[in-house]
Amino acid sequence: MTAPDDRRTYLADHLAEVRDRLSRACAAADRAPDSVTLLPVTKFFPASDVVLLRELGCTEFGESREQDASPKVAEIGTDGVRWHMIGRLQRNKAKAVAAWAHAIHSVDTDRLVTALGKAVAGAVDNGDRTADLDVYVQVSLDGDTHRGGVDREDLEALTAQVSETSGLRLAGLMAVPPLGADADASFEDLQRLHTQVLASHPGATGLSAGMTGDLEEAVRHGSTCVRVGTAILGPRPITSP
Ligand SMILES: *Cc1c(COP(=O)(O)O)cnc(C)c1O
Repeated sequence: MTAPDDRRTYLADHLAEVRDRLSRACAAADRAPDSVTLLPVTKFFPASDVVLLRELGCTEFGESREQDASPKVAEIGTDGVRWHMIGRLQRNKAKAVAAWAHAIHSVDTDRLVTALGKAVAGAVDNGDRTADLDVYVQVSLDGDTHRGGVDREDLEALTAQVSETSGLRLAGLMAVPPLGADADASFEDLQRLHTQVLASHPGATGLSAGMTGDLEEAVRHGSTCVRVGTAILGPRPITSP
C-alpha cells in the first residue's frame, strides 16, 4: 500500500487527466462539457480511496459486486453520495442493493426487474430509501447474453416493464462493446437503439457508455455517463469477473 499522501496525489493527478480527456471528448463531439457525468468505478478499491475521491469533488461512485460494495457503503454512507451498481446482479442481492443504490446500470431480465420492484418497495417501507431507483437497461449488442445484457429483440418489452414497475424509473440504456468489437461502431449501434427507446420513453435520456479504453468513442455517440475505473484508480488489485 502506498502512503495516503501519495495515494491522494495519484488520484488527484489521474482524476484531472480523465476530466481533461472527457472535456476534450465533449469539445470534439460538439457537446456541452457538463452533458456527460464522470462515474468513478471504485470496485475492489478500499473505502479510503472513496474518501479521497470525495475530497477531490466526486459525489457518485460505481461498484460492481454487492458483497464488495456493502461494507464501503456502510462506512461512507449515502449522505451526499450516490452509489451506482454497474455489475451483474443476482436476484437474491436485489434487496441489499435496493437499500443503498441510487441507480443500477445492469438490468437485463424481467425477473430481475420484478425482484428490484419488490426490493425497492421493501426498502421504502424500512425507511432505507425514499427515491425511486434509476434503472439502466443493459443491452447486449451482439446477442451473446451470457456476458450480460438483454437481446435487442427483447429490449422494448423490458424497457416497458421497467417503466410500469412502481419504485423504478427507466433512466436509459447501458452497454459494453462486445469482446473484440470496434468501440465506435458498437456505440453508434447503441445510440440508434437509445433513439428508438426514447421515442416511447422520452424521459429515458441516460446512456451509460464508455470506460477507460473507449470513453471518447462513447461520448461521440451520445454517452451521458462514462464509467471509469483504471484510468483514475490504477490497475485493480483483483481482476474483475
Ligand atoms: C469495471 C467496470 C468499468 C470500469 O472499467 P475500466 O476499464 O477500469 O475503466 C466500467 N463498467 C463496468 C460495467 C465495469 O464492470
